[in-house]
Amino acid sequence: MNFSDSMLRIGVPSKGRLSELATELLLQAGLSFRRQERALFARVSGLSADITFLRTDDIPTLCAEGAIDLGITGSDSVAEAQAAVDVRMKLGVGRCKLAVCVPLHGKIQSASDLDGKRVATSFPRTTERYLDKHSAKVHLVGLNGSVEIMISLGVADAIVDLVETGSTLAANQLRILDIIGEYETVLIQSPRCRDQVTADRIVRRLEGVVIARDYSLLEYNIPRAKLAIAEAITPGFTSPTVNSLEDPNWCAVRAMVKRKEVITIMEQLEQIGATAILEFSINNCRLDQSPGG
Ligand code: AMP
Repeated sequence: MNFSDSMLRIGVPSKGRLSELATELLLQAGLSFRRQERALFARVSGLSADITFLRTDDIPTLCAEGAIDLGITGSDSVAEAQAAVDVRMKLGVGRCKLAVCVPLHGKIQSASDLDGKRVATSFPRTTERYLDKHSAKVHLVGLNGSVEIMISLGVADAIVDLVETGSTLAANQLRILDIIGEYETVLIQSPRCRDQVTADRIVRRLEGVVIARDYSLLEYNIPRAKLAIAEAITPGFTSPTVNSLEDPNWCAVRAMVKRKEVITIMEQLEQIGATAILEFSINNCRLDQSPGG
């Protein structure tokens, strides 16, 4: 297979938890492609772009080198690779922490207790920077996976690993000693992007989906006398839409609200006399670039 030098190249994780998240997001943003089983390449229909399926942790380096123009990966992998790429946007998924973890009932109580110990991790560079800061000299065991079992296998006294829900830690009788960093899935761009116009178009499409996932649309009726208070409760992404009703003392309001705040906001609106309060989900949107802007 030959890559065209004029087509924008997007690197997408080939497997693992980010693979599914990234594929779903791209499809929702209207980048349609069909991946043949085990294929490492797919052409995006209707756009001058190709998708390459790569290892999540190779994507930052390949993007910095210019082999791909855009990439979806974890900001943990970007930090570990120390890759010179631009983070174009946070994708609102894959939030996790990189944490130093130790046995539940062990003797290690602080980062300085790690001095002279063995630490297993898939993030050697980030771990070394953290340990240097805490003046702890350790024997680093670098691995590509299954880090959580390394203490029970007897090769490490502590591990540095990604934690999302904490259930892997609990299953292995480990606890968090310290958090090194917080990360999430991001869209990165190469400093040597082949086609900035197509890259910007893809960023706008992804923004539409990512913002839509975060917001709901609320509609309600409110007495005109309470409109100012209602608008303060639901200021909207830019500003709420207000329509007249047949009864001149009432009006209808439509505003975007943060999905996680919907229930509280509905209660507040009800308290000030709003009626017919309805929540609608948003599939996609095009808005001004910044909230309130
Ligand atoms: P959890 O049990 O939910 O805390 O997840 C921990 C396991 O999932 C560990 O094996 C991590 O390496 C992996 N993990 C958690 N979050 C992420 C992420 N955002 N990206 C890649 N791997 C992750």
